[in-house]
Amino acid sequence: MTHFQVLIVGGGNAGISTAAQLLRKKKDLQVAIIEPSDKHYYQPAWTLVGAGVFDINRTIRSEASVIPQHVTWIKEAAAYFDPEKNTVLTTGGNAYSYDYLVVAPGIQLNWDAVKGLKETIGKNGVTSNYSFNYAPYTFECLKNIKPGDTILFTAPSTPTKCGGAPQKVMYMTADYLRKKGILKKVKLEFVSGGSMLFGIKKYAESLQKMVDKYGIALHFKYDLIAIDGEKKQATFKLLSGWGGVTVTKKFDMIHVTPPQSAPDFIRNSPLADAKGWIDVNKFTLQHVKYQNVFALGDATNTPNAKTGAAVRKQVPVLVNNLIALMQHKTLTGKYSGYGSCPLTVGYGKLVLAEFGYDNKVMETFPFDQSKPRRSMWLLKKYILPWLYWHKILKGTA
Ligand SMILES: Cc1cc2nc3c(=O)[nH]c(=O)nc-3n(C[C@H](O)[C@H](O)[C@H](O)COP(=O)(O)OP(=O)(O)OC[C@H]3O[C@@H](n4cnc5c(N)ncnc54)[C@H](O)[C@@H]3O)c2cc1C
Repeated sequence: MTHFQVLIVGGGNAGISTAAQLLRKKKDLQVAIIEPSDKHYYQPAWTLVGAGVFDINRTIRSEASVIPQHVTWIKEAAAYFDPEKNTVLTTGGNAYSYDYLVVAPGIQLNWDAVKGLKETIGKNGVTSNYSFNYAPYTFECLKNIKPGDTILFTAPSTPTKCGGAPQKVMYMTADYLRKKGILKKVKLEFVSGGSMLFGIKKYAESLQKMVDKYGIALHFKYDLIAIDGEKKQATFKLLSGWGGVTVTKKFDMIHVTPPQSAPDFIRNSPLADAKGWIDVNKFTLQHVKYQNVFALGDATNTPNAKTGAAVRKQVPVLVNNLIALMQHKTLTGKYSGYGSCPLTVGYGKLVLAEFGYDNKVMETFPFDQSKPRRSMWLLKKYILPWLYWHKILKGTA
């Protein structure tokens, strides 16, 4: 069995940044990353791709190009954890042992949970910015919208990565139609499994203003359960009160945010909590049961917004605590629950929501970030992608 001092599961945003920061602090560590994909994605820009203002090819790089030097890349998928024996098994049947384990496999998109979705997505006006393959199709759909059309935007009742993304595409679509002069002639509806626009009042008020300005109809507590692409019909289940009641709506275009969960191999592992997420201390990011296991990113049960922004604040905490553990010191790193949601509310306009645990507002700039601003749009479009590829993945930001 091959052994590593630090074994990382997942070479996405969290796994790569962690490996890079660890090696910056302790050059001689033997680190390996288990990651099956030969591609690495910058997912936050898919909202801009769907709006036609970002080249999809700038959101993808080879995994090989982002794996830090001196890290062993195990190009396999992790399948089983045996934390009592400090071992991870892969789908290929190989076993790897470790002194310390970092688990960061992201969130699972359950496209299958909506009947008919897989068969029709990418055609019939059915699209999703949640996929590299379909984000460009969102903009194709936008260009085809005509007066008289009905456009639906869905959000599931499950946790999602970037909880604001189901709305970002809606505001961009509305603004696109406004610029084209047909906004008033198109029906826009947000159909959400949630119960409100945003969990923090100051941002919710700002978003409500956009909803009113664009004339978007809001429906809460409805989960999308089926799509018939050819008939252009979407079926929703009402989640409150009338248990089991379903509603079918016609659409000309629908943007689907798929239901999401912890990855199956996590859910079925000893690392999971009752809901399937990796069970870690929300401040130290150390596993509650297995001391030499840490986790971060979208797959944990820390109650923060599942975003890359959260990952950026989690990485240094995890790295400091992991090194402290190696040196038999107390874990002093404490994650604040920080996450951020750059809400694109129109072309050139962005509300930058930033908050931590218990919905504590944690804004970076010395102005009210709930107001739509061009400067924040420029941050999202130009600065953050650069920061991601050149600093965050290199472990220097
Ligand atoms: C449309 C959209 C818009 C977004 N907008 C923003 C935004 O504006 N701001 C923001 O901060 N965040 C945004 N996000 C969220 C952000 O992309 C994620 O929160 C971030 O990528 C989480 O990092 P992660 O490492 O946990 O997961 P990921 O980056 O998804 O990486 C997970 C990795 O684990 C690998 N993996 C999966 N299964 C296995 C296995 N069995 N074994 C080994 N490896 C495995 C995957 O291949 C992948 O490489 C957005 C996401 C989307 C989809």
